[in-house]
Amino acid sequence: MQIIFDNVHYVYSSGTSFEKHALKGINLKINKGEFIGLIGHTGSGKSTLIQHMNGLIKATSGKIYFNGEDIYDKNFDMRTLRSKVGLVFQYPEHQLFETTVYKDVSFGPKNLGLDKLEVDLRTYEALKMVGIGDDLIDASPFELSGGQKRRVAIAGILAMQPEVLILDEPTAGLDPRGRDEILDQIAKLHKEKNITVILVTHSMEDVAKYVDRILVMNNGNLVMDEEKVKIFSRYKELEKMHLAAPQVTYVVNALKEKGIPVSTDVTTVDEA
Ligand code: ADP
Repeated sequence: MQIIFDNVHYVYSSGTSFEKHALKGINLKINKGEFIGLIGHTGSGKSTLIQHMNGLIKATSGKIYFNGEDIYDKNFDMRTLRSKVGLVFQYPEHQLFETTVYKDVSFGPKNLGLDKLEVDLRTYEALKMVGIGDDLIDASPFELSGGQKRRVAIAGILAMQPEVLILDEPTAGLDPRGRDEILDQIAKLHKEKNITVILVTHSMEDVAKYVDRILVMNNGNLVMDEEKVKIFSRYKELEKMHLAAPQVTYVVNALKEKGIPVSTDVTTVDEA
């Protein structure tokens, strides 16, 4: 699996007074098995960027390749792309609509035209992956806790067996326990299935703890694309973009705890 962006631009409402140049020449390569954090303040273009990855938004100019194929080629199979690149929107639980957990999670695979046995297998496997037990399978999604609802919604995407899982602020609005549960499950999934994960987040703590590579968006530009360890040494730049975490020490400690060598530049962090 590989996704390549080649000089991708996107303009909303072109030619009107609402015109907005939301992506300004993005160049990017994402490889199989990566765990990537996508950060940037509100309005920087994160959502616009991820919606290009599964073809929900079509670039105004530039090219995107999925496994070497131009996704805008007339022979390209967009349907397959949508099932291989799973996108979990913010507050995905708002899209739960079926009467039982089983029905909700099996909706996608059923629509792929798979037989009942395969649909069942995928549904049970996806629920297991997000840590939802069999006891909840016939429950109404509306009886579940906030964190459980969200995990059911994520299972609905996983049941499509995507190669890439993109999550837009998956912990927004959850309590600390719900947050940890979701992120730990995602980390486990990444480790066990080698699934590529792109995590859109505001939290530098989550970035420090989970991801390997960080993309930073600012005003439609991809301004940093670095391994995690390196990015924290560019702390001053992050601060200028109002992205510095108040819990800097926490971040540094989290890195040290994981045995990740923290570069000496991080003294800048302590001064900050
Ligand atoms: P982020 O996800 O980082 O908050 P977005 O990708 O949602 O950023 O937005 C990037 C820019 O595009 C912002 O200035 C936003 O106001 C604008 N934008 C987003 N969606 C639309 C839309 N549907 N129509 C017009 N402008 C939009």
